Amino acid sequence: MFCKNCGTGIAKESEFCSECGDKVEKANNPVNQPPPPLSPLNQIPTVGNYIVVQLLAMIPLIGFILMVIWAVGGSTTPLWRRNYARAFFVMIAIGVVLSILMTIAFAGIFMAILDEFMW
Ligand SMILES: [Zn+2]
Repeated sequence: MFCKNCGTGIAKESEFCSECGDKVEKANNPVNQPPPPLSPLNQIPTVGNYIVVQLLAMIPLIGFILMVIWAVGGSTTPLWRRNYARAFFVMIAIGVVLSILMTIAFAGIFMAILDEFMW
């Protein structure tokens, strides 16, 4: 490519012209390019999207079924909603594991205390 200011040939990667020091305007400057249009599947969720999804998730049973459908992710489910649903189930799994561990821990403490008084 060539410098716009003085016409000197310059390396593709250089930001400034070696001859005149002018800033090189790259033909394919990614910063100045408008982002490619997002397909519905790659849409960026709005605040409203999140609120609607969270409200739906709170509905007993129906919310759970919706979450399963989104987590499985049909061809029409936007990625963010699928990921949200998957995160939801990961959180449930973590909660279940933690509650089991807590139950075991408390049962152990309870048994230990019981032992103290029994003998
Ligand atoms: Zn130049």
